[in-house]
Formats: sequence, structure tokens, C-alpha cells
Amino acid sequence: MILGVPKEIKNNENRVAMTPAGVMELVKFGHTVYIQKDAGFNSGFADAEFTAAGATILETIEEVYEKAEMIVKVKEPIASEYGLIKKDQLVFTYFHFASSEPLTHAMIKSGAVCLAYETVEKVDRSLPLLIPMSEVAGRMAIQEGAKYLEKPQKGKGVLLGGVPGVPSGKVLILGGGIVGTQAAKMAAGLGARVVIMDISLNRLRQLSDIMPANVTTILSNEYNIKEAIKEADLVVGAVLIPGAKAPHLITRDMLKLMKPGTVVVDVAVDQGGCIETCKPTTHEDPVFVIDEVVHYCVANMPGAVPYTSTLALTNATLPYVLQLANKGWKRACTENEELKKGLNVVNGAVVYKGVADAWNLTL
Ligand code: NAD
Repeated sequence: MILGVPKEIKNNENRVAMTPAGVMELVKFGHTVYIQKDAGFNSGFADAEFTAAGATILETIEEVYEKAEMIVKVKEPIASEYGLIKKDQLVFTYFHFASSEPLTHAMIKSGAVCLAYETVEKVDRSLPLLIPMSEVAGRMAIQEGAKYLEKPQKGKGVLLGGVPGVPSGKVLILGGGIVGTQAAKMAAGLGARVVIMDISLNRLRQLSDIMPANVTTILSNEYNIKEAIKEADLVVGAVLIPGAKAPHLITRDMLKLMKPGTVVVDVAVDQGGCIETCKPTTHEDPVFVIDEVVHYCVANMPGAVPYTSTLALTNATLPYVLQLANKGWKRACTENEELKKGLNVVNGAVVYKGVADAWNLTL
């Protein structure tokens, strides 16, 4: 199959959908890989590395879309790419159709086959192509939180790990899923005193088994949250209720219970945030202060670490890319239910219920 990897053009998107290692695997199976010039530059991969792995570099995005039977991307196509996508072309990327009606209609009109990373789903209902980005965001939440706890960054001036003779900082993590677990591991590794709260007792049992002794699990409810935020130096919002907005576990009123300079990193901001006062921010201007509480609410945290994020994402996508390239999308989706769940728009028709429901379209 002929695969094309365009350079991402969405604002501030520095990841690339394929690494030289991925190219090498595909070429081994006899596929042709076209990479747009400089597509990997911001992730730390030079054109020469792609060429050495067997790819051909194309100058323009138009050439990539023109030549490829399958496009592998990171972000959803933006308006200037809509017209480049051809009938029957397979496009494998994050689409998030339910949040963009124009994108949905553009892809219906294109006649392409749109397989969305975010709806590829395993039998245990986990989402293998979203997990790596949650892992990145979870680990990053502590790094960012630690930075904004510094006094010059408007924080409390607390070193999370403490020093001999001085107690370490306190980290409260709301939600013990992928983001919360990774955040807890990082905070624990720094030596902080960590509390994870979740509404699932089973989840807390699992976490209690695997976490080190400086991590405590506490059931998530209003009373316990109110008590914990009085003491916390850093609060990480990591809750998710599938298909719904995040619940506001910390309301505006509750901010006054927190000490001045406390930092909140609301990773769940992309689902509305679990701290009422959070609103999405960007890497250029990541924080704001309300009631002396520093809020970090960047909606695409992995975008700041494109090298790690690209490797994490492509580790997860490559096995699916190989199946699609080796078998073609029809056979690959027939033989693999996980991939079939990724089909959102096929040759002019919406085939994913969530997308049809979002825009009142028929399946
Ligand atoms: P997950 O499903 O693995 O975990 C969510 C956890 O929240 C579950 O364990 C669930 O039991 C728990 N939960 C639900 N309601 C709760 C409550 N009231 N109190 C405490 N816990 C509660 O999800 P995840 O992959 O960890 O993702 C968490 C959030 O982070 C999502 O909104 C996701 O979209 C977001 N995210 C953001 C970024 C970013 O860049 N900002 C990147 C990746 C993920």
C-alpha cells in the first residue's frame, strides 16, 4: 500500500504520525511511505532519518495527499486540508467528529474512509490510542505542578520532595484512572505525600496494592475533598465520566478553603474540567490565578513534549497501521473488532453512532 504522512498544520501541533522506526517496519512489508518535508522536524526526527529508514520525502502537502492510498496523521484535518482528501482514501488519525460539525460534513462529502484513533476500542472497553496521551498528561501534570509551586511562578514556594528535616509537599489527585495513576507515580517518585481519590472502591483497592507507601487512597466524596484541599499544595484533576462532562468536584466556593499559592492542574479540562473555575489555557499562556489559587488548564498537554508524545502515540498506532496496510481496511476491520470500532465515516456515510447522534444524522 502507498502511505502518506503529512506535516501537521494545526496550530501548535508538533507531533508527527510516524517515526523512522515505523517507516522501517512498513517498508519491510513492501509498502511505500511518503513523508512530507520537515514533518518530523518539531518532534526531533530529521528528513534524513526517514529517508534512511526507506521513506521518500515529498515537498508539499498536496503531493502527499495526491499520492497516498492511506493517510496517517495526528490531528483532525483542518479546513485547508478538507479539499485534499480523496474519495476512497483511508484516513487514520484523531478526528473527534462529535465536536466538529463542519469536519463531519466535509468528510462525508469527501467519500473517504475515516478511521478515528479515539474510537478504536478493545474488548475490555479501553481506548488503546487515547491511553498513551493520558499517560503523558498524567506524568506531565506533576512536572508542571511542581514548576508552578515555585514562588516566582506565583505558587506557594513549596518543593514537592522536601529536603532532609523538612516535610515534603502534599499532592491530591482526583481520579485514579490512567492520568491519575501516572501522576501519582511521578509525585510519589519525587517523595511527595500523595492522596488519590476515586469513586470506585475497586480502583482504589488496585491502586493501594501497587502504589508505594507515600500514596494513600481515599474515597472521593464532597466531605473528603473539602478536607483534603485544605492541606494540599498541588491538586490534579484527573476524573472522567465517559461520554459526559467532568463533574465539578471543586466549586468556586471551595477555593477559599485552599491556602494561597496552591496549584491546581486540571487535566480533565478537555471535558470541561473538574474544578469549576478552570477554563482552557494554552502552552503560551498556561496559568491564571483566582482567589490566590494558581490554575494550570492546558487542553493539549502532550503537545509540549512532542518527542515523547510522538513515540508514545506511534508505539500504539503502528500495529494498527500495519494491519490496515497489509490487509486493506475492509479485511483488517472485518478481522479485528478493535479497528472496526474506529470506523466513523465510510464513503459518504456516518457509521459511528456517537457521531450520528451528535449531528442528527442517520447511520
Ligand atoms: P480514566 O477513565 O482512565 O480515569 C478516570 C477516573 O476518574 C476513573 O477511575 C473514574 O472512576 C474516576 N472518577 C469518576 N468520577 C469521579 C469522581 N467524582 N471522583 C473521583 N474520581 C472519579 O480517564 P483518564 O484517561 O485518566 O483521563 C482523565 C481525563 O484527562 C479525561 O478527561 C481526559 O480526556 C483528560 N486528558 C486530558 C489531556 C490534556 O492534555 N489536558 C490529555 C489526556 C487526557
